[in-house]
Amino acid sequence: MKARNFNYVRPAGLAEILSLLERHGEGAVPLAGGQSLLATLNMRLSSPELLVDLGGAEDLKYISLERDEIVIGALTTHAEVLSSPIVQKGLPLVAEAVRHVAHVAIRNRGTIGGSLAYADPAAELPACAVALGATIVVGSSRGNRTVAAESFFKGMFATALKPGELILSVRFPAQQRERRWAFSELSRRRGDFAIAGMAAVADTKKATITDARVVYFGCVERPTLARRVAEGMCGKTLPLADSAWIGEAVQADITPLDSPGWRGSTKLQLATVLTRRALHTMQESSLGIDWA
Ligand SMILES: Cc1cc2nc3c(=O)[nH]c(=O)nc-3n(C[C@H](O)[C@H](O)[C@H](O)COP(=O)(O)OP(=O)(O)OC[C@H]3O[C@@H](n4cnc5c(N)ncnc54)[C@H](O)[C@@H]3O)c2cc1C
Repeated sequence: MKARNFNYVRPAGLAEILSLLERHGEGAVPLAGGQSLLATLNMRLSSPELLVDLGGAEDLKYISLERDEIVIGALTTHAEVLSSPIVQKGLPLVAEAVRHVAHVAIRNRGTIGGSLAYADPAAELPACAVALGATIVVGSSRGNRTVAAESFFKGMFATALKPGELILSVRFPAQQRERRWAFSELSRRRGDFAIAGMAAVADTKKATITDARVVYFGCVERPTLARRVAEGMCGKTLPLADSAWIGEAVQADITPLDSPGWRGSTKLQLATVLTRRALHTMQESSLGIDWA
């Protein structure tokens, strides 16, 4: 199939992009790396009147450390995130997760803003944003607002973005000393979207977990915080001596639905296995650093 006819424009900068998005409302769609959008156009799942190419907004391409936050501009590619020393040092969970995003060619063009806006339930970066308690900075010609990642993802391919709005950046709290992390996913082949995945961070005192955030993706409609699993982790010492409680906690937190080729009960079992593995590897995960 081929895409329906559309107009294309590549404005020179952010102000012009935002003004076009405002003027055309739902008829205009931003184009970042095109790795997901072009497929949806060709399959006629989306038929905008106007594609607004973000490529001219060079100022949305950066990774910076601002006090204890790492800020990544929306147009930063997955490949740039992967090779960034700031990310490797200060966001080890993201550095690990992005290795699982597709293949080199897609990572060279796909962007972090596109991944968050597209909100594929099996995507790695939205799950990391929720696990780390990141904030998404959204802009329009009326001004900027911030949305906690936890409230940003509304459902399958659905976000809190309103017509005319653009993701400008994402702000991640940098890895602190005594914070451990774990990332794990199962997919048919390396680089495929996850059937089930998990991203987690845990604050520790000596080796005892004092606080934790655990997020499932792939097997659920949107990145989902697992409160019972997190509660179960708190007070336990690494390495975990007992993992018998995990199955019941995962079942209380998520209810995977059947999908072509996969029963919901199988995905639940996979999520339980991943959780067990991830929590055991948490012991070895690098500890954070002092940013002060
Ligand atoms: C074969 C294949 C395998 C893949 N495997 C994976 C995988 O394993 N894991 C994974 O996470 N992803 C995977 N992807 C998707 C890839 O990560 C894309 O890069 C990502 O989903 C979209 O990024 P993009 O920059 O290409 O966005 P685009 O395709 O340009 O845009 C996607 C959507 O986001 C909107 N958008 C883009 N940027 C913004 C912005 N700044 N503000 C608001 N809206 C915006 C667009 O309007 C569009 O609706 C795969 C893609 C392919 C083709």
